[in-house]
Amino acid sequence: MDATSRLAIWLNDHPQHISNVVDYNAATDKLFKFDLTKSNAELSPALVNDTANFSAWVNKKLADNHCRYGIGGYMELRTIYDNREQFDTTDEPRRLHLGVDIWSDGGTPVYSPLDGKIHSFKDNANFGDYGPTIIVEHHLNERTLYSLYGHLSRESLAGLTIGMPVTSGQQIATFGTAEVNGNWPPHLHFQLMLDMEGMAGDYFGACKLSEKERYLKNIPDPQLLLRFAKAVNESA
Ligand SMILES: [Zn+2]
Repeated sequence: MDATSRLAIWLNDHPQHISNVVDYNAATDKLFKFDLTKSNAELSPALVNDTANFSAWVNKKLADNHCRYGIGGYMELRTIYDNREQFDTTDEPRRLHLGVDIWSDGGTPVYSPLDGKIHSFKDNANFGDYGPTIIVEHHLNERTLYSLYGHLSRESLAGLTIGMPVTSGQQIATFGTAEVNGNWPPHLHFQLMLDMEGMAGDYFGACKLSEKERYLKNIPDPQLLLRFAKAVNESA
């Protein structure tokens, strides 16, 4: 059995250890699934390259569909990076998104889903990058799991120290606004890693399509922890 399957079993067996990453009630809160692939004809360069326009588009989708959050992005091949140089390399571009994005207002509280400690944190302050980022290290019996929170507010990093303990359900951050979060509509990039591969305060949030199999082995589906209900516009 691979490490992700073992993790899924542990999480299934220990639901009492798991808290919501954002305030969410499956009975009352609806989710809107965002499609940021080439097949979404609404995603013109004029839309995604203008952060105010892009934010207004996100907000309208949520309002029109009476949704508290937008979600999506795990292993999604994205076109919205086409004009964001951060994701370009000299050869194949990094277009495969590795975490899940949760779209909502700046200031939305973020909670640790499990007990753990602060592994690292950093303001990745380049255009299109994560902005303020926190990584939490969790020990689940003999297993270690890392959770990454990107596009946070600057205040989220204030007072943090490496190794500081966090408990399941403890607020650790808030969503940043476009001014600080790498120039994106406010959202949380939430990603799980089995191995940090020596990195700190940062880890790839997108990879080349040709590297998918390698990253799939290290990056479990965040839905294992989020346990969100099906989004309103998600097909069966
Ligand atoms: Zn993301």
